[in-house]
This record gives sequence, structure tokens and C-alpha cells, in this order.
Amino acid sequence: MAKKTKKKPIKRVAESGVLELWRKVVIMRANGQCEYPNCTVNFTQLHPHHYYSRGNKSVKYDPLNGICFCHQHHTNGKEAAHLDPDFKEKWLASGKRPEGWLEELTRRKNQIAKDNDELRGYWKEKLKEELERLEGEK
Ligand SMILES: [Zn+2]
Repeated sequence: MAKKTKKKPIKRVAESGVLELWRKVVIMRANGQCEYPNCTVNFTQLHPHHYYSRGNKSVKYDPLNGICFCHQHHTNGKEAAHLDPDFKEKWLASGKRPEGWLEELTRRKNQIAKDNDELRGYWKEKLKEELERLEGEK
């Protein structure tokens, strides 16, 4: 009798858990500070922002695509990333990311990815490693 080949069971990985790890990494990497150039807002909350919209699955969980902002620079103020049409230009001119950052991020963004358990599982592990590395740096 032919042996039945068992399919490897797919491990479910929830989107919310991976995004939570992504948020932690982005905030910790920024030392809990708003990364907007010369931010002087006395903020109470930090909002990790996706430079390329999270609709781009390939960089949805990629910390390279994350920027840590206060609420005012994320969604509330006139300079907010989501409101200011010149935001990307200002951000790029700020020098807050090393040279080549946008090129590498754009290269990754242009890769095709499906937001499935495999992708989330991959990023879950990568983000955990990154979190450990950042914690070790403190
Ligand atoms: Zn700010």
C-alpha cells in the first residue's frame, strides 16, 4: 500500500501579533523618541508609521519600513506623515536614515509577497531576533 504523504501542517500566525512585534522594534530602535526632525512635541504616545503603506505586503512587517513618530507627527498636526503632502520629501532630506535606505526599502517593497502564515512566521522570527538584539544593546 502506498504511503500517504502527510502535508506539513501550517502554523497559524496572527497578523496582530506580528504587527505588535514590528511596533516594539520600531519604537525601541528609536529609543522611544519621535524621529521627526527636531520634534519638540511633549508627547505621551508613540506611533510607528509605515513609510510605504502596509498595503504593500512585502514591507508590512519589515522594520526598515518603520518610522517612530509622536501622535502629532503621525496623524494629528499639519506636519503629520499622513496629512502633509510634502512629508516624504522632508523625511528624506532630514538625513534620519542612512544613504541607500530608500533604495533598499523600495527594492524590498517591489517584491511580490502574500500576507500569509508563511510570511508572518518569517517576520515573527526576524522581529523577535531584532528585539533581542536591541535589548542587548541597552
Ligand atoms: Zn514628533
